[in-house]
Amino acid sequence: MTYQHNNDLYLTYSPARGYWNFVLYVEPSGPPVSAINAGRLFWLSTSRYATEWRDRLIACTPNALHVMLAGQSNAPELWHPCVYDDPQSPAAIGDGCDCWKTFYDPVTGLPVAANHELPLGRAQERWQYHTYAPLSLPENERLTVLVIDRETGLFWVRTDHETLQILPERQSNGYEVGYRGGGPTELARMIEKIVRSDGQDVSAGTPRPGMPDKKVLNWVSSAAADRTQEFTLDQLKLLCRSGMVA
Ligand SMILES: [Zn+2]
Repeated sequence: MTYQHNNDLYLTYSPARGYWNFVLYVEPSGPPVSAINAGRLFWLSTSRYATEWRDRLIACTPNALHVMLAGQSNAPELWHPCVYDDPQSPAAIGDGCDCWKTFYDPVTGLPVAANHELPLGRAQERWQYHTYAPLSLPENERLTVLVIDRETGLFWVRTDHETLQILPERQSNGYEVGYRGGGPTELARMIEKIVRSDGQDVSAGTPRPGMPDKKVLNWVSSAAADRTQEFTLDQLKLLCRSGMVA
């Protein structure tokens, strides 16, 4: 059914602000998902990069972006308190918990939803983070360090302003290391793009079609790449020249 003005869309004018407010009610047929940013899902684990990122997050009330991250079936649970705050919470499972906390990243503005897994008996607890990869670096910042983080499975960038963020990524074109396949090929292409632009262009997506240089692809696909490590821009340039990082 097509949209009908004054039936599906209600406009109210706010004289103090000088603009119209509206509420548009829609019922999408499938689950809500992002069509632009790539979703990222990881356990916090022992990664110092993920811990640094987590520590800067700002708690906020859940909004539509958090619902997209958590999924339709989990959406109501975004509003349930943690069992630590309310032992009677609907999220309580005995003395355990299955709650959600919602945040945003002050660097990128992207939403973050964290799922608390606290089993009965509270022997150990884990937090699983749901967020989106950004599409670019902050304006006027350039890459100084690229991080392969095998604890989380993420790839990080540190900029010349010391900003740490997830490596920008085009949806359905994620990165990987340690084998021959699409993920390592995309990472090799991204490294070449970063080197060509002297660390300036770290926007999501790489040039298509075309394969990356064999030297870069061979290293990214090798077991040597499959561990947590950092690369300066100079090391990335060396990789593109020689196929070696040191
Ligand atoms: Zn909890």
